[in-house]
Amino acid sequence: MTVIVNPLDPGLYIVATPIGNLGDLSPRAADILSRADVIAVEDSRVTAGLLRHVGSKRPMVPYHDHNAEGVRPGLVARMAHEAVALVSDAGTPLISDPGFKLVRDARIAGHTVVTIPGPCAAVAALTLAGLPTDRFLYLGFLPPKEKARAEAIAEVSAVRATLVLYESGPRLGACLAALAAGLGDREAAVTREITKRFEEAVTGSLTMLAARYADAPPKGEIVVVVAPPGEAAPASEADADAALAEALTRLTVSQAAGEVAKALGLNRKLLYARALAMKTKG
Ligand code: SAM
Repeated sequence: MTVIVNPLDPGLYIVATPIGNLGDLSPRAADILSRADVIAVEDSRVTAGLLRHVGSKRPMVPYHDHNAEGVRPGLVARMAHEAVALVSDAGTPLISDPGFKLVRDARIAGHTVVTIPGPCAAVAALTLAGLPTDRFLYLGFLPPKEKARAEAIAEVSAVRATLVLYESGPRLGACLAALAAGLGDREAAVTREITKRFEEAVTGSLTMLAARYADAPPKGEIVVVVAPPGEAAPASEADADAALAEALTRLTVSQAAGEVAKALGLNRKLLYARALAMKTKG
């Protein structure tokens, strides 16, 4: 019996795949992987398992960091008349994985680019960490060498956003210690083996987590999430009085109250009363 499969429109299909639990493969992703003319893969042994799971027998072409330059033009040329799917070993292609230049060149060549979104370890970790998610900065993998890592951390230390980074078990302790040294002792979460049997999220301060993992590198895949820098401590009464006393040497009571209220983020009316008392007293 011949099975007739509806062909896909030509172009590039970016297909997200599970990061551990095969149940997370979307029906649409399975459909594309069953109908693409060719699937560009990082490691054909890894993707072969996924294709077996969905019953796909579509051909694979290796596309990874070591052959991408040579393979890319041929893949882009095929997109003119064939459906080319791109997967990585796990998660969303292009996110610390190959694919960005393939998408860029497909666009330059005028081909259709379609995304089939799905699992991504960075986003999954954010949902587990219990830290602010309104602004986050994805850092990928930090450099492994101490100096370069410290520089990369210093570069983002003032950014008012939650930080998300990938790390390996053996390097985790040193990485957390470097984060504590460069960012201060912020709250953080070490998320591990997301969607797998031993999924966990360990939360605490960076120094506490660094101590926990210093001599006990965890197994499995890891995403570290770090809280944004804390708000500056509110100004104290003594700060307000000192600022008012200084301002009163230059300004009227009303102007001094206004200036200090703005600078310290305090209530102008209360500062006016305080400045008036200071002026009368002395
Ligand atoms: N493209 C992938 C994505 O969308 O998340 C990331 C690929 S990157 C080469 C692999 C890294 O992602 C791992 O070293 C680990 O830091 C993180 N990762 C992947 N799967 C994970 C999982 N199930 N749990 C925790 N971290 C994971």
